[in-house]
Amino acid sequence: MISEDYYTVLGVERNASEGDIKKAYRQKAIKYHPDKNPDNKEAESMFKKAAEAYSVLSDPDKRQRYDQFGHDGLRGVGGAGGFSGTEDIFDAFGDIFGGSIFENFFGGSKRRGGGGGRPGKNLRCDVVVELADVVTGIEKTIEITKKEKCSDCKGSGAQDGTSPVSCPYCKGMGEVQHSQGFFMVRSACPKCRGKGKLIETPCRKCRGSGQYPKKSTITIKIPRGVEDSTRLRVTGQGECGENSAPSGDLYCDIHVKQHTLFERSGFDIVCAIPISFPQAALGCEVEVPTLLKEKKTLKVPKGTQNGDVLSVKGEGLPDTYGYSRGNLLVHIIVETPVKLSAKQEELLREFDDLKHKNSNPKQKNFFAKLKGYFG
Ligand SMILES: [Zn+2]
Ligand SMILES: [Zn+2]
Repeated sequence: MISEDYYTVLGVERNASEGDIKKAYRQKAIKYHPDKNPDNKEAESMFKKAAEAYSVLSDPDKRQRYDQFGHDGLRGVGGAGGFSGTEDIFDAFGDIFGGSIFENFFGGSKRRGGGGGRPGKNLRCDVVVELADVVTGIEKTIEITKKEKCSDCKGSGAQDGTSPVSCPYCKGMGEVQHSQGFFMVRSACPKCRGKGKLIETPCRKCRGSGQYPKKSTITIKIPRGVEDSTRLRVTGQGECGENSAPSGDLYCDIHVKQHTLFERSGFDIVCAIPISFPQAALGCEVEVPTLLKEKKTLKVPKGTQNGDVLSVKGEGLPDTYGYSRGNLLVHIIVETPVKLSAKQEELLREFDDLKHKNSNPKQKNFFAKLKGYFG
């Protein structure tokens, strides 16, 4: 536990911006980095102090406590708990050492401690599902050929029995310094291309890349309620990274196939069902198919009109959480009969002659309006 002033440690003003603090820390971290100062206790101590100061000053909440109460303000909040070793610091600042700062600095994707490499590429695939699969959710298996860790060298790139050696040119750092005018400029080591390691005897199978194309079978869990054109991410199922770098992800574009009977409307599904005009007039029961191929009986009330929508509860699509299901909406189509026989025509005429003043309210209403229209 140190009690040096954190602002002094990083060499910034008390009102320094977040960016200034980050920048100052980055400079200290690079200057005192243990890889560059092997067996230098003083540098290690400076490195730890800088990391501790940064852990507090980069966190707005902790910084405020520190400004108000000094080191006492951080007690018990895990603020300045002290790091037991350098590894802890790397763990605590994995984001900085693994990503942005070193990436900016070395213009590549050097990972801490050298031996890193490019992360694996993301891949994309298309998966077609049936509308019924949306009700239950489904697992789909796809086959894809992608770069995997070479099985012969287990991804190291070095021939069996040998292993990569630390790059002598950059001493395993992956970067080199050279002066340009007054400045010291760092760039990725040209010999090992920033990897910090060299392969003397490349693996015969993968020619030293550590990767080899392989056909893979991947199971994709498609959640119920999935919508058309949803993009799912399957973490880590992209191409494998170089050396120990992480694999990419696999993105699956989900396509929900059009159904011959049903159309989707949010969580509801719509099915158009034609009935005869006597069925509509007298009322009837119709059999309605469901997405899961069951038959439901639907009561069509007397006097149902063309275009009326009746609902079968809970036979629609589920939401992604499975809490509820939409409805099956039955869109009634009253079909006018065609190609009538003589007997049918006769009966219909008779039927129409029997019409009374309240049997066709729409017609009645229309003619009432029309009367006023012509004056
Ligand atoms: Zn290999
Ligand atoms: Zn090198």
